[in-house]
Amino acid sequence: MEYRIEKANADDYQAILRVMEPWNMHHVPSPEMESLNLNNFYVARIGEAVVGAGGYRILSPEHGKTTLLGIIPEFSGLGIGKALQVARLEAMYRAGVKRVTTNADRPDTILWYKKHFGYREVGSLTKVAPFSLVDVDHWTTLEMDLEHYMRMRDEHAARRRRYIEENDPAPLAPYPPLLINVCLTGMVPTRLSTPHVPITPEEIIEDAIRAFDSGARIVHLHARDEAGRPTPDVSRYERIISTLHRERPGIVCCATTSGRNWPDFESRAAVLDLEGDAKPDMASLTLGSLNFQSGPSVNSIEMIERLAMRMQERGIKPELEAFDLGMINLAKYLERNGILQGRKYFNLLLGNLNTAPATLGNLSNLTEALPGNSVWGATGIGQFQLPINVAALTAGGHVRVGIEDSIYYDYNKSTLATNQALVERVVRIADELQRPLASVRQTRSMLGLPPVARTV
Ligand code: ZN
Repeated sequence: MEYRIEKANADDYQAILRVMEPWNMHHVPSPEMESLNLNNFYVARIGEAVVGAGGYRILSPEHGKTTLLGIIPEFSGLGIGKALQVARLEAMYRAGVKRVTTNADRPDTILWYKKHFGYREVGSLTKVAPFSLVDVDHWTTLEMDLEHYMRMRDEHAARRRRYIEENDPAPLAPYPPLLINVCLTGMVPTRLSTPHVPITPEEIIEDAIRAFDSGARIVHLHARDEAGRPTPDVSRYERIISTLHRERPGIVCCATTSGRNWPDFESRAAVLDLEGDAKPDMASLTLGSLNFQSGPSVNSIEMIERLAMRMQERGIKPELEAFDLGMINLAKYLERNGILQGRKYFNLLLGNLNTAPATLGNLSNLTEALPGNSVWGATGIGQFQLPINVAALTAGGHVRVGIEDSIYYDYNKSTLATNQALVERVVRIADELQRPLASVRQTRSMLGLPPVARTV
């Protein structure tokens, strides 16, 4: 609900007293409160109605005191109390006040002042009339250092934001901006099974741009040769990545280092040596060996360490692919040995026959096992892509989606997917969840990447 904080005007007198009534602070004049000075009052309005009010008094040039503060109970929880308190503190600060006294009797109110504004208890004061809580006969006197508060408040707010970012990889509310990673091609799909899989560099570039323009900021890339077979040929990656960086500045290009078809380190790591505009921002790092139905993907610990080390040396962020709990365990091993550092980006892949099945329980176990300072996305293989994408969206995680993981759009396998349609479906669902899409700038900051695209 939209409210406005404004200076009170003379007509607000009765409305302010009505706001104080549920709190038994409406006896004005009384021995506790002789008068209201509306020049020193702020009100919160929704439309024309006054739903909250708070005042102050200047006691001496450097000493101020808050007077009443109340919100109509049905409008609590909107941040109105804090906004009124901030407004009157700022007014006192402008008037030269350095020290603010507040009297309160409700234990929750006393805690609120201490927690949010740095008050401490300095004494107590006997009530002279029944005001506020009738069974408490004294006020607790609180005091705060206004100069210190004004100096530190931006820093405190930044620290709170940073803490959430580092310690809660998936806050439910408010949702973090959504990162969509589109896996366009993969190792397996060919023109035999779907006309929509992009194969040539030109097709991959066009598909990546369509996906980016639909909301995917990260593109997961596999190159194919003239015959449509997977290839580690760096010249193809060079063309794809440099064109994408030029056409869509800030797009995050993630190159595969999969070893399913060429097991040697040199072939797998070749793409990491590209320079300038062709250098990938990220590269995939599968955190263990596993079986796909189409064959094994063998990743020894030594191979994973060498790839991770090369990425670190080259300033390329790994896309940490985890299919099971043990793979997250290995990520922690790499991190404590310094081979992974800083913000980590995990993709959790569920529903492969020989690794973690696509259940919400497994997704939850995997996300809870992640090390701190991580962000995560999730996908399901085949028919599990959509439900795991939706679970990740709801859980505050991010999404990987694309033809690499499922060539079909529907469970019946009657409609072949395009990458663009898969991205657009995720965007529609996110929109219903009121989940914003990450901008290029937000994407790079959330992933711990440099803020602008590299230039040659
Ligand atoms: Zn891949």
